[in-house]
Amino acid sequence: MLQELELPLPNDFHIHLRQGEALVNYAKSAGEQFGLVMAMPNTEPAIDSPELVKKYKEEILAAAPNLQVLLTFKLNKNYTEQELLAMQKNGAVAAKYYPFGVTTNSQDGVSKIEDIYPTIALLEKLDLVLSLHGEEPGVFCLDKEKDFLKHLEKLSKTFPKLRIVLEHVSCVEAVECVKSLPENIAATITVHHLILTLDDIIGDSLRPQNFCKPLPKLPKDRDAVRAAAFSGNKKFFFGSDSAPHALEKKQSLSGAAGVYSAPVAVPILIEEFEKENKLNLLADFVSNFGADFYKIPRQTKKATYVKKEWQVPKTIDGAVPLRAGETLKWS
Ligand SMILES: [Zn+2]
Repeated sequence: MLQELELPLPNDFHIHLRQGEALVNYAKSAGEQFGLVMAMPNTEPAIDSPELVKKYKEEILAAAPNLQVLLTFKLNKNYTEQELLAMQKNGAVAAKYYPFGVTTNSQDGVSKIEDIYPTIALLEKLDLVLSLHGEEPGVFCLDKEKDFLKHLEKLSKTFPKLRIVLEHVSCVEAVECVKSLPENIAATITVHHLILTLDDIIGDSLRPQNFCKPLPKLPKDRDAVRAAAFSGNKKFFFGSDSAPHALEKKQSLSGAAGVYSAPVAVPILIEEFEKENKLNLLADFVSNFGADFYKIPRQTKKATYVKKEWQVPKTIDGAVPLRAGETLKWS
């Protein structure tokens, strides 16, 4: 029986590290788990200028000096080519689009994506990636991602050379859509969408620690996401969307969306890939495919994981982690 597993250092192409005092702990903890992270820009204020991109990168590196950090900026307005070039120079590799009001700090989101097509044309020209939170505002919660796909299809047709990532893919239709589009259209997959369904949020009892956007959906949706992750298709790679919130923000009458998965993501991935007999595909999913898509070198350093049980603490850095209190098989 397998007791030890060596992987290239994991790359997390979608993480929320927050800001201020919280950032220090979350960045440190990410540095213990990953070789590289791509930090999302939905702080307050949002990361939306070359100066803020630079400052955010410095703050993360101060807390986790060995972490490779890629930055994103928020697509909440149109930018000039000069601004985009400056952002790129300061470490940004992707622009993140949040539709209005669909998740944490997205009240400044753009209500009509066509309004920022001029900037999207520049992203294509400068070879910056468009990163999408793919949920359509104002429709039934379980249909939000499915109803957003028309925008992805139109973007792919209008900007044929643009690299686009549909983040945290969570339903059958989205998986099929990404598969059907050209190879410059990819998707990230989180650990929690591989293992959770709606039942884990509102089934037996209300579990706010599992509440996130996009919502984990029906078993058939989870199974489609699993099939994509275990397929060896390079369009699907790991982005944790680890999104810690303080306990009191989760246990509230208006609870915040986000699963804190960074401290447990890789051990859970190993467990799930092992269950499916697909451990041979894990290095590509958790490290190589994302690096290839973002055109950065693959990791050369390795991490070793051992089959040794441990219990996930009830809270880590003030937030409840995914599978808190449960036993994981890999350390
Ligand atoms: Zn996110």
